[in-house]
Amino acid sequence: MATIGWIGLGHMGSRMTANLVKDGHTVLGFDLDPAAVDAAAAGGVQPAPSLAEAVREADAVVTMLPKGEHARAVYLGENGVLANAAPSTLLVDSSTIDIDSARTLHDTARERGFRFVDAPVSGGISGAAAGTLTFMLGGESDAVEAAATLIEPMSGNIIRTGAATSGQAAKICNNMMLLINLAGCAEGAVLAQRLGLDPQVFWNVAAVSSADSWALRTWYPVPGIVETSAANNGFDATFTADLANKDIGLALAAAESTETVLPAAQLVQAQLQELVDSGRGGKDCSLIISHIDPAIG
Ligand code: NAD
Repeated sequence: MATIGWIGLGHMGSRMTANLVKDGHTVLGFDLDPAAVDAAAAGGVQPAPSLAEAVREADAVVTMLPKGEHARAVYLGENGVLANAAPSTLLVDSSTIDIDSARTLHDTARERGFRFVDAPVSGGISGAAAGTLTFMLGGESDAVEAAATLIEPMSGNIIRTGAATSGQAAKICNNMMLLINLAGCAEGAVLAQRLGLDPQVFWNVAAVSSADSWALRTWYPVPGIVETSAANNGFDATFTADLANKDIGLALAAAESTETVLPAAQLVQAQLQELVDSGRGGKDCSLIISHIDPAIG
């Protein structure tokens, strides 16, 4: 059994670590937010008093942080992971971050003698809790194989995507498609209701028809239909509009650097940006439905 230093115990990290603990691993956790630490401790994580103490004796370090700037600070900062962990420690970043940041982390870790894997995930907080996340692993093959063993208790699917940063590339494209699907669910839900359809009956149709999607089955933005939907809880976040806006922004940045035009992604990004600008960035991204029905949210 391994000792794992875990940095970032938010919506995802608190649930993912509980599955490592259940599997018998020791998880030393650190987060800047004491409430996040308490939630993870309830799942068996041992709180570390500092980042340095979480990683110093660890066999592996996993990070689950909001954005590239947080991941760069946590790995490369003066009191960060590279300054405090032993170079034999396997480093796994499961945050969704921009490709340039992921490249910098891979390169700097290698220069300092570490093995580093970009390992973003898909499956939401329900997949994190159930231990059924899809992991996308990018990096050198020996590091990727070590990471695949480590993450097994948290995963339903482990896909080796290729060289360094390829995990992030896959994740960015996946989430762009997801968020466009979610916007489609929001438009369909409101139109169905205005055509007089019972919301549950329409959902029953869509779920076994050609409109079926993960967003429909997990995130449908109408209360009382799907158990895991944030609409049941006043759109309290399972995945914030702020982070969704970051993700679709990563897709648009990648589109620019590859001279690709993505009109649907641009439209969804503008709607998420409006949620952020109106002070609703901390709410669930499925509140995107308020663009179609302003009476919601
Ligand atoms: P979150 O904001 O709930 O959690 C991130 C945690 O990181 C917070 O608790 C925050 O306090 C902590 N943190 C930030 N800077 C830190 C630092 N310097 N040191 C220690 N802790 C620090 O976010 P989340 O929803 O758990 O998502 C985490 C990552 O996973 C993001 O990149 C997100 O895009 C991705 N993701 C989220 C979901 C989802 O459904 N929530 C699904 C797949 C992927």
